[in-house]
Amino acid sequence: MKKILITSKSFGHVSEEPLEMLHAAGCETVFYNEAFDEMRFRALLSDCAGLIIGSHKLSKEAVTGAKTLKIVSKHGAGLDNIDLPLMKRLGITVTNVPAVNANAVADLTFGLILDLSRGISAAERNVRAHEWKYFIGADVYAKTLSLIGFGRIAQNVARRAAGFSMRVLVYDPYITEIPEEFLGFAELTSIEDALRNADVVSVHVPLNDSTRDLIAADEFRMMKPLCLIVNTSRGGVINENDLCEALREGRIGGAALDVLENEPVRACEPLLRFDRVIITPHMGMYSFEAVNQVSLIAAQNIIEHLPDLE
Ligand code: NAD
Repeated sequence: MKKILITSKSFGHVSEEPLEMLHAAGCETVFYNEAFDEMRFRALLSDCAGLIIGSHKLSKEAVTGAKTLKIVSKHGAGLDNIDLPLMKRLGITVTNVPAVNANAVADLTFGLILDLSRGISAAERNVRAHEWKYFIGADVYAKTLSLIGFGRIAQNVARRAAGFSMRVLVYDPYITEIPEEFLGFAELTSIEDALRNADVVSVHVPLNDSTRDLIAADEFRMMKPLCLIVNTSRGGVINENDLCEALREGRIGGAALDVLENEPVRACEPLLRFDRVIITPHMGMYSFEAVNQVSLIAAQNIIEHLPDLE
């Protein structure tokens, strides 16, 4: 029996099928996905052959202490919580599940754009507090949406924006031309023009050394005073201190964040003090369809590498 530790909170949440696949392939599964304690995690991992991991950090100590560990299967796309050069040195295979959650994250992104623009969740909070108080928001229809990064999720956001007759500006230094289906409403531009002309900025880049603090004080200064910013990529891409400052000084109109530098949110989180901020609990890929599909592929990635685990 090969022991597989599962620390992803949502693995197998929608159906039993991913777990059944692992058991049918001769794996023993151990779940550790409640309140996270690094020492407990290290102890559990120490005799495992495989790990199905969510978004928590995979420390060097945990990996080097797990002498039988051969594969880490990310339950999701982003690999920023895993030290890939270290894993390569140790000969541990790392897999992820790109693309299949792109529609779910794009739906959430667009939901946040609509919510921020019209103050939907803020107004709903008022109603629950027995205050029949409305906001006058801004149209999303025919506005300018700037996408920072134009990979799988951003392209799905652009497809939704087309339905709202939005003009889409794209900043992505690794793309030389806009795919044909977006011609007519989307155009490549510099980051400066993307920020200066946007009514809404939405961030969709991986977190790495070149994207950390990609949106900071200088970038906020370029935005229009009522510009809204949405981040469903990774905390750390937007500098949160600078975002607080921009909000405090009224230099931008509001922010919606599905991801934070420190997750889960701290009770003292300064961003929570702003009415014009929406924070969701890193739930971009949590649709039934996406979670099930990601779980099935994460399990399949383990099974495909079982021969290496002998
Ligand atoms: P992707 O790899 O398909 O696209 C990323 C794009 O970013 C690429 O086109 C790349 O060229 C571009 N890019 C890289 N560096 C850049 C830079 N410095 N400036 C501008 N563009 C740059 O990735 P994706 O699947 O679209 O995911 C995007 C982000 O969303 C990732 O950070 C991922 O971790 C995150 N994500 C979040 C959730 C969630 O639950 N909120 C779920 C899935 C993915």
